[in-house]
Amino acid sequence: MLTSAFDLRVILLAPTGRDAELLAGTLAASYIATAIAKDGMEVVAMLAEGAGAVIVAEEALKPPVMVSLAEWVIEQPAWSDTPFIVLTAAGRPTREHQRRAQEMQLLGNVTLIERPARPETVHSSVRTALRARKRQYEIRRREGDLLQANADLEQFAHSASHDLREPLRTIALYSHLVCRTYADVLDEPGRGFLKVIESNAIRMDSLLTDLLRYAHASSIRDSASEAIPAQRALKSALESLAIAITESKAQISIGELPCVRMHESHLAQLFQNLVGNAIKYRHENRPVKIVISAARDGENWIFCVADNGIGIEPDYRKKIFGLFQRLHASSKYPGAGMGLAICDRIIDRYGGRIWVESVPGQGSSFYFTSAAETEADLTELLVSEKQGDVPGRRSGAEID
Ligand code: ADP
Repeated sequence: MLTSAFDLRVILLAPTGRDAELLAGTLAASYIATAIAKDGMEVVAMLAEGAGAVIVAEEALKPPVMVSLAEWVIEQPAWSDTPFIVLTAAGRPTREHQRRAQEMQLLGNVTLIERPARPETVHSSVRTALRARKRQYEIRRREGDLLQANADLEQFAHSASHDLREPLRTIALYSHLVCRTYADVLDEPGRGFLKVIESNAIRMDSLLTDLLRYAHASSIRDSASEAIPAQRALKSALESLAIAITESKAQISIGELPCVRMHESHLAQLFQNLVGNAIKYRHENRPVKIVISAARDGENWIFCVADNGIGIEPDYRKKIFGLFQRLHASSKYPGAGMGLAICDRIIDRYGGRIWVESVPGQGSSFYFTSAAETEADLTELLVSEKQGDVPGRRSGAEID
């Protein structure tokens, strides 16, 4: 659980008087390791090497020190919330005291103890702080295990898909060659058997591609990437689906789409799977109509891909987001049941939600949420649009 010898030490900063030495002495008696810093900058340097808690005298928290510490607090990883115990000056509460106390909240996990403090009070606060810190280390360990497991899974899926693909392609190629070269030697059932081998090898190849995508989606880490125009991701998804769109003569209406904080390839993958399904699960008695739109909901955008296809019965609307969950035989609708599981995984990694609403026989609407862009993202985007880095946002477009 502990990764550094310094993980549970208590950093002390009390530059005037002998408070630091006295505290170090009493904490040492309770087997609590301490390190005395001579100034605020040394505290920041020590924090980088590891600390269980910091005890600091209020008078040492001058503006430059406060700024450096506050910056350090903000930059901590998500699992970390280093406890700060501030020994405040004694005296009647004044406005200045209140202002200082408010300022100290910048340290995040902060406890104020008024001097002169009883040793038991300081001890008890330090013990509580270290106990909480140990739990944070446990979260760090679990996070590390999870990242490692995801990296292993991705590595495994990568090697497996590469190693399995080569023999698969050989099987598909040779069964195709035998079928073509010995067409007049083989009878009808023989040719049929070879076709089954070939089509299954092709199916397995696309299954391996999906497995790789799923493993890749599981390893998405940096959810707070910069904002990108959703329109651009959709465009690339529609380009990948060009053949299916042309063959099905799908009419696709696109509303105005916002910028969102997602990687373009992940958003494109979502659109590709949802629009691909809207085409695949179309109703045979009417032309395919797909509407893609987005609406603001507080801090999120809700995207919607709506179709007029076969629809989904209520009992299956959660289940279909699971791995390998399909409602139809692959002879009727090809697929491995991974498309929505991949969408679910991508959205989950970005802290969003995906769901479906549907009227069986009339159509389905798939919704997913994505964090809205911040003001800073927008400014950045406007600048890059001006410089011609990205195509500007387009208003509603229609593709037939
Ligand atoms: P696949 O399409 O390979 O089966 P998915 O995970 O993409 O895998 O979808 C899971 C199941 O959800 C599908 O088998 C299908 O039954 C149902 N489904 C997905 N999208 C739609 C849709 N737009 N309309 C009707 N059913 C759908």
